[in-house]
Amino acid sequence: MPNIIIVSNRLPVTVDKEIKKSAGGLAAALEGVSTQDGKLSWIGNPGGANDDPAKREHIEHVLQEEYGFIPLFFTPEETKDYYEGFSNSSLWPLLHYMTGYFHYEPGWWEAYQKANRKFADKVLSVAGDDDTVWVHDYHLMLLPAMLREAKPNLRIGFFLHTPFPSYEIFRCHPQRQELIQGLLGADLIGFHTFGYMRHFRSAALRLLGIESEMTRIRHEGHVTTIGVYPVGIHAERFAKQLADPKHAEHLAKIGKEKQGKRLILSVERLDYTKGIRHRLDAIDAYLARHEKQEDIKFVFVSVPSREGVQEYQTLREEIEQRVGQLNGKYATLHNSPIHFIHGTVDFPELCALYAQADVAIVTPLIDGMNLVAKEYIACQKDDPGVLILSEFAGAAEELFNALIVNPYDPPSVAQAIEQALAMSPGERAERMTPMRKRVMKYDAQWWAKTFIEDLSAINLQAEAKQSFHEKQEQLAEVISRGGRVGLFLDYDGTLREIQREPDQARPNAAVRELLEKLAACPEMDVAIISGRKAKDLDAWFGEYPFGLIAEHGAAMRLPGEKKWRQMDQGVSYAWKDEIHKLLQQFEEQTPGSFVEDKPTSLVWHYRKSDPEFGEHKAKLLAGELVVLAANEPVVIRHGDKIVEIVPAQISKGAAVQRIVESEHYDLVICAGDDQTDESMFRLEHDPLITIKVGDGDTLAKVRLSSPAEFRRFLEGALASRCESRHEPSPA
Ligand code: UDP
Repeated sequence: MPNIIIVSNRLPVTVDKEIKKSAGGLAAALEGVSTQDGKLSWIGNPGGANDDPAKREHIEHVLQEEYGFIPLFFTPEETKDYYEGFSNSSLWPLLHYMTGYFHYEPGWWEAYQKANRKFADKVLSVAGDDDTVWVHDYHLMLLPAMLREAKPNLRIGFFLHTPFPSYEIFRCHPQRQELIQGLLGADLIGFHTFGYMRHFRSAALRLLGIESEMTRIRHEGHVTTIGVYPVGIHAERFAKQLADPKHAEHLAKIGKEKQGKRLILSVERLDYTKGIRHRLDAIDAYLARHEKQEDIKFVFVSVPSREGVQEYQTLREEIEQRVGQLNGKYATLHNSPIHFIHGTVDFPELCALYAQADVAIVTPLIDGMNLVAKEYIACQKDDPGVLILSEFAGAAEELFNALIVNPYDPPSVAQAIEQALAMSPGERAERMTPMRKRVMKYDAQWWAKTFIEDLSAINLQAEAKQSFHEKQEQLAEVISRGGRVGLFLDYDGTLREIQREPDQARPNAAVRELLEKLAACPEMDVAIISGRKAKDLDAWFGEYPFGLIAEHGAAMRLPGEKKWRQMDQGVSYAWKDEIHKLLQQFEEQTPGSFVEDKPTSLVWHYRKSDPEFGEHKAKLLAGELVVLAANEPVVIRHGDKIVEIVPAQISKGAAVQRIVESEHYDLVICAGDDQTDESMFRLEHDPLITIKVGDGDTLAKVRLSSPAEFRRFLEGALASRCESRHEPSPA
């Protein structure tokens, strides 16, 4: 059975005088995961000061022996730049839409890469080839790709515990592309909400030009599945605490402190995302209107957080000052309305506080999920209270029976406080019961179990790999027995990755290397067959002994010849003028698009347009062309970011057919990436290998996911030829 390795920035332990595993959180969630016969381990930073090697060794030993945890130690400098710097000062604010808090220093990027590399090295040192690795959160966004590169058969999951923001925000980050690329190394990426997942797809499209389906992103030979997995709480721990006889004592203690007042509770880390300032404004607005201030107590449990980051220190000072000011403004002889605790409360006390609170007010400006909202609900068993919940918390999608508020609008939050305090017991129960059912059922264990099950169920393209190898062997076999192979290769998107500018797609080193090998292989009869003009193909491939076919088959240059032959004699181009006018209209209406008038075709390009708008306009154009050109001898092709109109008599397939009929091949291979290549896949020849590179419907029998994979396919077949031809050296 494969092992499961969890990787997170922090291990769920506290290393002090004693080494203790933390209760709750991710650690508890994993209790739901079944490893069957495999083992579960966890890699992360144990925290604490670990500068003494002997102490480290001791920690390592205890963690490994008692919990199966593998600690990774960081120096204070590493922590400062990778964790406090890159992760918490640049990524955290942007992931939470807080561009005003974004802070970036160039050295941090290197530290972040190094830290991710350090995690990768540790994972690779313990992971078997087929193990499962589950990476957690924004500190480790580069890790999935690093792992995939080193061990392609690892099953890699990633869960983002924060929101994923709109592309408009994420694009602010200097390393936005590298971060997305890092994540796309995963087989499964999980988000709390559909909104975050949608933003991620949009960022992949707009930053890297990677198109995707609703739940799948195909990129560089790899498919990443994406899904929604709202995290839950450790419901059983709360249920147990509520049933514990000591709970009654804690309740009584807090009940006494309440002195008959209504208690309105907030619990959170002291973070600018939590909307504490705005909440204080709402409380101000509420108290200003409310006459009987003495019967209300607002309790803030504000857990110290990231105190090494300047923005958090400033926030704390500001909030304490504002609380002081409000207490001054509304204090009476017997009450000051806000009790502000800057510290932690232990679990039994927290449960009692939750249970005793008449209202919980959870109003983050943005929050990936927000577990406090769910924990409050878990503690509302009898005579439940009311949850006021921000619509910007991920939890709001599930907890829609709460009083949902806009935290940016303090007067409306003040109104919600009023409504909550006036709510009848019947309505409170009516709202709370379905939420509690959900929170207790879809708990943390359920979340982890579902994620791991989905990750395990992903078919890691075993089928695709099989046909890759089968066909590669077939080709290698024909070559090794000296057979003749007709190789018809589309260029853009097949041999070479698509580029934003057509000129940038000139052959790079990887393509040239492959072309040299093909040229040196006498068994290979290569033809490059493209939609490009003859002069482009001459300039780029003129020196190779290849056949060249330009403009989708309208012009042809045979190997060894200098002259091009026109293949479109007798073809009518009378349709061009009228269609050109229509294309021009689309050029005007679609920023970034343009019309290309080729000798044998008309093309509307929209690669530089907004990807969604471009696709929408392309569909409209194709529809209008069908009507306009209904009686013309043309074919309309919707290719990769182009709509093209060509004479019906001309196609890549017709050109290839002509060559194949006049030659004798032991094997024919046709490879292409878009609709213009489909005509080649209809070729009649036996044996024939047809290869589609990339996504989309196709007649081809083999699908490879990228030009890089296609090049590997050919290189592999050619390499085996070199080996088989290699004379063994005399003993
Ligand atoms: N919490 C805690 N000690 C406290 C108060 C709260 O450990 O004194 C816990 C709380 O029970 C909850 C977590 O802190 O599980 C906060 O999680 P949440 O998702 O609400 O916010 P995050 O801190 O992850 O942004």
